[in-house]
Amino acid sequence: MRFVYICAECENYIGELELANWDESMLGFDTLDSEEKKELVQIDFADQLGTVKAICDDCYKKKTASPFFYHQADDPGIH
Ligand SMILES: [Zn+2]
Repeated sequence: MRFVYICAECENYIGELELANWDESMLGFDTLDSEEKKELVQIDFADQLGTVKAICDDCYKKKTASPFFYHQADDPGIH
């Protein structure tokens, strides 16, 4: 099975790995509830392709920086 990691935010390709033997706990999927799993992990057994949504470095940085920007946008001076 080939697993392709795609950014959930910007859909950038992050990376991929090829695993002959795998299970859900090995990939950390067992920590997701069924809704999250449906959203984040798509496995196509016919094509032996798994698509996994993760977050790329850029979006991670944007996310961690965003409280700062929200704070600025909330500046009472612009209302
Ligand atoms: Zn991204």
